Amino acid sequence: MAQPIRLDDVRKEYHTAGASHVAVDDLSLEIPEGSFTTIVGPSGCGKTTTLRMIAGLETPTSGTIHFGDRDVTDVRPQDRNAAMVFQSIALYPHMTVRENIAYGLKVAGVPKAKRDAAVDEAAETLQIREQLEKMPAELSGGQQQRVALGSAFVQDPDVLLLDEPMSDLDAKLKAELRVEVQRLHKEMDATMVYVTHDQTEAMTMSDHVLLLEEGRLAQFAPPSDLFDRPVSQYVAEFIGTPSTNTLPATVEVGGDAPTIVGEQFEIPAPSDLFADRIGDSVTVGIRPQYLSPDGGDHHVRVIVDVVEQLGTEFVVHGTSVDGTHINVVDERVGDAGPDDELSVGFDGGDAFVFDKDGETICHGDVLVAARSASPSQ
Ligand code: ATP
Repeated sequence: MAQPIRLDDVRKEYHTAGASHVAVDDLSLEIPEGSFTTIVGPSGCGKTTTLRMIAGLETPTSGTIHFGDRDVTDVRPQDRNAAMVFQSIALYPHMTVRENIAYGLKVAGVPKAKRDAAVDEAAETLQIREQLEKMPAELSGGQQQRVALGSAFVQDPDVLLLDEPMSDLDAKLKAELRVEVQRLHKEMDATMVYVTHDQTEAMTMSDHVLLLEEGRLAQFAPPSDLFDRPVSQYVAEFIGTPSTNTLPATVEVGGDAPTIVGEQFEIPAPSDLFADRIGDSVTVGIRPQYLSPDGGDHHVRVIVDVVEQLGTEFVVHGTSVDGTHINVVDERVGDAGPDDELSVGFDGGDAFVFDKDGETICHGDVLVAARSASPSQ
């Protein structure tokens, strides 16, 4: 039965050549039971180490891990009822696909009829029925990874952990397998945690995204919250393609209320949040998708460098008159060419404002909730 996963002040330090390195820095969070969470972040931020501690393959230096009410911090991996699928596919080359998928059940003493039924169900879900009697060497990389997923599926784990299972596959196979993994999650009664450095995977597949920053929790929330309500400039810039535009500005005294003044815009700011910040330097963040050539209350002039076509949309890479790099994503900017000047607008309600430490002060006129250890808060 699916279990919630709780990490309390989990820390992992590695000691090599006399130096110590903090890979995971006092991480506390609760992953809801039966949910699908992706862990995402730049290389070296602690994604795999976090997953391996949940699996029991690494022991935390300090802190505890619970599956439901059970403290599993010191429980052996094989006694946690957790299954793990790795990036490098480990199939037994001398066994058929059916034997590979059933192997864990066979070792556990499950009778043959029951094993066969479980394998057939997994093969149906993962669409590898035709491959069951083949040898692994006869399969494509994507099919082999489906077999590895099938082996995890038949174990009926409480917790299913996946470490970049698609990173070696080409784009088309990745897109197919993304759908299979989501189907697998619907079929299984398991809490699923999936590590990826591909934010598109994270944003499209999961209920919740845990973004890490140097071993610490940057934000843990539903994908739309990371996009529309990032708690920091780091989150705003990491999530979304192309990255959020960032424009320097200053908080100044306005007519009725404080005003955020940039090189090309003046945004009225809520008094309760900015009255104490007069004179402060801030950064205004605006997503490329929220800049448009014929809309918005505030306008920025952009000199076009390059225009890319992405399906029905175009991406303009340009530079504002004050030298800031600006990206615009819109269906109507396809006619623009290099060196053209484009005026693009945005609504103040779509802008994020970050303080000098990169913490979000507000998005639009709404105060951003503080960092949370639970995605539902
Ligand atoms: P990637 O996306 O590159 O796989 P990651 O986010 O999964 O990175 P981890 O593999 O968890 O990052 O590593 C986090 C940090 O801990 C890195 O700086 C890494 O070098 C270090 N690290 C990981 N495993 C060990 C180890 N066994 N010994 C020493 N340092 C380690």
